Amino acid sequence: MIDAPRSPGAVSAPLELGPTLGPPRALYLHFPFCAHRCHYCDFSVARAATPPIGAWLSAIETEAGWWADLARWATPIPLDTLFIGGGTPSLLGEDGMVELRRRLEPWFAITNRTEWTVEANPASFGRGLAARWREVGVNRLSLGVQALDDRVLEWLGRLHDRTAALAALDAARDEGFRRISVDLMFGLPDTVERDLDGELDQLEALDLSHVSLYGLTVEPRTPLAKWIELGRIDAPSARRYAREYRDVARRLTPLGLEHYEVSNFARPGHQCAHNWFYWNRSPYLGLGPSAHGFLPPYRTWNVFRWDRYERALRAGERPVEGWERLDGDDEALERIWLGLRTHRGLAADDGPTAVHAARLERWGREGWVERCGDRWIATTEGWLRMDSMVAELTGAR
Ligand code: SF4
Repeated sequence: MIDAPRSPGAVSAPLELGPTLGPPRALYLHFPFCAHRCHYCDFSVARAATPPIGAWLSAIETEAGWWADLARWATPIPLDTLFIGGGTPSLLGEDGMVELRRRLEPWFAITNRTEWTVEANPASFGRGLAARWREVGVNRLSLGVQALDDRVLEWLGRLHDRTAALAALDAARDEGFRRISVDLMFGLPDTVERDLDGELDQLEALDLSHVSLYGLTVEPRTPLAKWIELGRIDAPSARRYAREYRDVARRLTPLGLEHYEVSNFARPGHQCAHNWFYWNRSPYLGLGPSAHGFLPPYRTWNVFRWDRYERALRAGERPVEGWERLDGDDEALERIWLGLRTHRGLAADDGPTAVHAARLERWGREGWVERCGDRWIATTEGWLRMDSMVAELTGAR
């Protein structure tokens, strides 16, 4: 899920959708539980060795019904994609996923053409779960491998080691998953002395079809931020971040993994269809704490914390924390930064105003974007600077 920069027009008043809005064909569900909280994580996560799965299922079911009533959609809504992220959705277990499908079915039609992705952590994923999820209809996995070196995994505070990561990958393949994405972190502090090149050698041998990159960022109010402030850990260096980002791109592309978005690489036919809904600005619905949705022209976001989200639904209240209506300059700006995130780029006549066009020309001279026919496409160097480019665009309104 991507976090769009919020415009100054963001509000928290009750949302009233127009009666003509069509239903979204992409659904994101946030499962906000982890057995342990990683020291760098600022996601909506409640620590729970045994998550309250029944309560989460009831909340999701209630929220789905609330949206369908609000927008007056005919149900069940056919889904092109369903993505369950977290948190650690592999803690849903075998029965939890079966029950989830049953609870979703009155509201959403999941067919064998629906791309159904679930995030899984190697520490809670094995053959039994893989087999059952395949039977229920899950057809794409996003495995939180993060690293292939036990020392690095230990530094990250992950609950799995390299052996468990490889076992999870084998289990998924043996049980018939053909579409598997592996998450890989980069940009750790110099003091970790990570041999990323050695890990990329190992990754190369795994014959992967999709890799998602996550650069370590120091988020405020995390233990990592505190440790850095106290001088117990060095801050990650921008130089290492840039070097490793370039190294990964240089190593994965010759393997046939196309760098198709800032943080994503895929073989032909293996791109994540769900994420294209975000990047293309197609409508999608997000359910669960902190979930974002886009129901044009509205962007919405839910209450962040699980306990508050659940309490709101139990009290018959809407769990939407805020929303904004995107049009005019805000919409043009979003078209630009979302377009530049992907390898398809941005049509020169789709969004840029004169002031934005001047910036694109300058970034072209810097080597951050390239003009290919009638499109502007970001280079690897541009993707490295995506955050500052977005900040500059936002300031240029
Ligand atoms: S497993 Fe993922 S979601 Fe859970 S605490 Fe760690 S980084 Fe956050």
